[in-house]
Amino acid sequence: MQSPAPLMISHLLRTPLANTPDQLIIHGDVLRYSYRQFRSRLGRLANALRKLGVGQGGVVGVLDWDSHRYLECYFAVPMMGAVLHTVNIRLTPEQILYTINHAQDDVLLIHVDFWDIWQSIAHRVTRRVKIVCLSDTTIFDENLTDLTEYETLLAQSDPTFVFDDFDENTRATLFYTTGTTGAPKAVGYSHRQIVLHSLGFLATLAPVPGQGGLHRGDVYMPLTPLFHVHGWGFPYIATLLGLRQIYPGRYEPARLLALIAEHGVTFSHCVPTILNMLLSAPESAGTDLSRWKVLIGGAALTPALAQAALKRGIDVHAAYGMSETCPLLSVADMMSTGHLGDAATKDSAALETRIATGRAAPLVEFQIWDENQKVLPHDGQSVGQIVARAPWLTCGYINPSENDSNTSDLWHKGWLQTGDVGAITSDGTLQISDRLKDVIKSGGEWLSSLSLEQLATRVCGVTNAAAIGVPDSRWGERPCLGVEVLDHSQQHFTKIESDIRAIFLREIEQGRLPKWAMPDRIVAFDCLPKTSVGKIDKKALRIIFAAVDT
Ligand code: AMP
Repeated sequence: MQSPAPLMISHLLRTPLANTPDQLIIHGDVLRYSYRQFRSRLGRLANALRKLGVGQGGVVGVLDWDSHRYLECYFAVPMMGAVLHTVNIRLTPEQILYTINHAQDDVLLIHVDFWDIWQSIAHRVTRRVKIVCLSDTTIFDENLTDLTEYETLLAQSDPTFVFDDFDENTRATLFYTTGTTGAPKAVGYSHRQIVLHSLGFLATLAPVPGQGGLHRGDVYMPLTPLFHVHGWGFPYIATLLGLRQIYPGRYEPARLLALIAEHGVTFSHCVPTILNMLLSAPESAGTDLSRWKVLIGGAALTPALAQAALKRGIDVHAAYGMSETCPLLSVADMMSTGHLGDAATKDSAALETRIATGRAAPLVEFQIWDENQKVLPHDGQSVGQIVARAPWLTCGYINPSENDSNTSDLWHKGWLQTGDVGAITSDGTLQISDRLKDVIKSGGEWLSSLSLEQLATRVCGVTNAAAIGVPDSRWGERPCLGVEVLDHSQQHFTKIESDIRAIFLREIEQGRLPKWAMPDRIVAFDCLPKTSVGKIDKKALRIIFAAVDT
């Protein structure tokens, strides 16, 4: 039987509209308005989209930077029963074309900055698609004047739109995740999943007193592009809490830092690369970051980055999840890391807690499985694949291509196979040590690439590191390291390499690392290759290592 009170994204708006209708939503220096105005803009957008032919089940694709328009689409599109396709603007034009055709977009909202991409692929889009142009300036490119422009469209539309309830299992969002092989895979989430995920994340962050968590007084700014897993769900959560929200547009370090300072941003989330980029920007030194809480996910938070952030007064914690999990699975135990002013924060145990993959969020359950799907004990030692359950995990990829085993590989015996390898301690703390496909197996023994990377980033001057297994006729694989360094001169790198080797040697001598963990090769990079969402691209790195002479 269907619930008479279904879980709908539209219901997330009730509390902020009742309690904080004058709170502000700000898109850089482009536009600012209250939640009350936000609601009437949602009505205008829904009316405009309906006029363009979008009905229940219609698909609206968006190619935009992180803007107020994106937030409006996050709500208005699903609230009218349509599906929001957040197009990954960092994919290649060919991949973007694939996703637009696969998603069967009816309307595309395209920022003028992506106009060249659109023009290069438009003739190969298989459906008739209506285009709405997005621009941050009132001066509109005259070549585009025959197109509908977003703000004009909204101005011409009626703000009154009744967003009815419907089946909570209706798909709300759709985006694509790129694996190491094959075409991008479509992942979607329903209203029910997004509402439960918002509540689950809040139940994780809200009980943490003071720093760390997310509270009514916070000022929110996303630093995870809004095309990626609907901004980790935070625009929904921030709206539900009625927070002041700052949308930064395109990610440019100087502008981001200026926005943090100008608006007193207190809460953001991002992958490590973005935090690294901000901390190394020249403008960072003059910016007060001491009120800023940052949740790091998408890749491991290294001790070096955590320390660099803590030094600046940033309250940093790790979180873990994936595109297929909405994404929340676990968050570092903020309750035991203490306030930044406390001495406890500086000790190594607190640092370990901040960077640990963390504890399962409410409603999330983990198990660790060996290769035969046998459940391993939570003793902190038994390492195997992490499998998970929660009501917001994706049920499977949407319309996978024929012979695609992705969906059947994703779930097994009611558990989602994360493809990550790790262990859980007796107190329930999860620590990822690797990605199944990135595991390094040397002489038949597993090496945790994460531990090798963490050791390398302890060396001063190393800003990032990636360990990979390189094929070896004798040992199967041998570990190699790519390190991102501040100073690329040969002299400096010779010193860095010997420092890294010294740290590895010490760990080996003290029995904390097997002797075969010493990397065969260490290669310096200005910038390690990154994926479309800013994570280290190990596939590309393997190709580079294969091409570099030994
Ligand atoms: P994506 O689907 O692109 O968001 O990538 C998800 C993957 O990122 C996970 O399966 C992990 O391999 C990795 N990941 C996410 N969060 C963490 C974390 N806190 N520590 C280590 N790896 C992480």
